[in-house]
Amino acid sequence: MKENWQILPWHQNLWQSLMGQEQSDRLAHAYLLRGVPGVGKFQFAKALAAQLLCEHIETEYACGHCKECELVKAGTHPDLLFVEPDAAGKPIKIDQVRRVNEFARKTAQQGGRRIVVMNPAEAMNINSANALLKSLEEPGNNTVFLLVSARAGDMLPTIRSRCQLLPFSVPPTDVATKWLSEHITDQMLIEQLLVLAGGAPAFARDMFDQGALELRGKLINAMADLFRGDITPVELAKEWQNTDSSQLLGWLASWLDDVVRIGLGAEDSSIRNRDLTKMLNYLSGKAPVKTVVRLRDDTLEQRQFILDGANLNIQMMLEGIFSRYLDLVI
Ligand SMILES: [Zn+2]
Repeated sequence: MKENWQILPWHQNLWQSLMGQEQSDRLAHAYLLRGVPGVGKFQFAKALAAQLLCEHIETEYACGHCKECELVKAGTHPDLLFVEPDAAGKPIKIDQVRRVNEFARKTAQQGGRRIVVMNPAEAMNINSANALLKSLEEPGNNTVFLLVSARAGDMLPTIRSRCQLLPFSVPPTDVATKWLSEHITDQMLIEQLLVLAGGAPAFARDMFDQGALELRGKLINAMADLFRGDITPVELAKEWQNTDSSQLLGWLASWLDDVVRIGLGAEDSSIRNRDLTKMLNYLSGKAPVKTVVRLRDDTLEQRQFILDGANLNIQMMLEGIFSRYLDLVI
């Protein structure tokens, strides 16, 4: 568990400034940890929560063995509340926020702070967000809110404005590469993963752990089969309906994005999926840029629906996207 309480190395400055705030008793009562997915925001929030509850304020991170740390480790600390949707893509409901408000009103049972970690905070619907406002406006004694969000722009401005912003950015490539080298030995693979993850190292590592590259390779082969007429869009949709659709649509959109770039005569260096140049050039030669742009935007829109937790017929949606992909080449 201990390693989970350390932050990623490129967040050291942010950590130091928060520790400075804590030592001079200037900690805000609410923070918004904001940044693209996979840069380590949630890990930072967990490390900070543990550190603020730990008995040993002199250690750089939570000590991992005091009574408070033991409770945090066991997931039973009475002054730490994690708020997450029931399932990924589902909203954080008003009942959950009511529990947060109740929690924030009480005095800490262990005599220290009370910490609320909400992830992802943009999952609050309008009612939940309005309910939370009350607690943010009149926080209980020593309650600290850590709201984690990759899409803070979707949150109520009134929530955002009551939080101190902690911006999490993507680290420089050499820093990210060095960090990933501790998990992955193949440098070429690291480079490829970082491109696919938009430079976010933790996202890149997750993709590696989940075998995302193999899955992507499988999809590339399946698309080749589709273009050759070896498989129909309906069969393809059936085959892929149970995989992570947001990831699938993300790849399909990212390829189209590259096709658009090629169509507009962009530099080779701006092409993200450089391992697919042959397929991308083929598509670019077949379809007008305008058509590709439309399909890319619609693909991204469907992906957004999924991320927003919309109840879609995945198979039908994929059939539509694959059919239009096929239309590009015929
Ligand atoms: Zn401790």
